[in-house]
Amino acid sequence: MQRCGACTRFVWFPMYICPHCASTDLHWTALSGDGTVYSRSLVIDPVSAASAPPGPLLVALIELDEGPVMMSNVIGDGAEDVVIGDRVRVVFQQVSDDVTLPVFERVNAES
Ligand SMILES: [Zn+2]
Repeated sequence: MQRCGACTRFVWFPMYICPHCASTDLHWTALSGDGTVYSRSLVIDPVSAASAPPGPLLVALIELDEGPVMMSNVIGDGAEDVVIGDRVRVVFQQVSDDVTLPVFERVNAES
């Protein structure tokens, strides 16, 4: 995720200028990839097959451990049962030769 060198805040979505202080001193920073489900919605029948795989799609707001909140999908076994407060971890899903998306899988409490 981008982080501003001037005000140190995270920037999401990627931008050319920091939305917090207007600095252009933005750098890519590796994050833990761990987070907590802040909100979730189960889409039973996605409108467009071009933007979503067939079948139910779990859309969630993920509060990353570093603070930023990002919208993504929760995938994997039991994704439809995800609830607010569940711990999740990023995985990278390649959707084409040019596009890879950060999505999340639920983490068991004991792992
Ligand atoms: Zn800034």
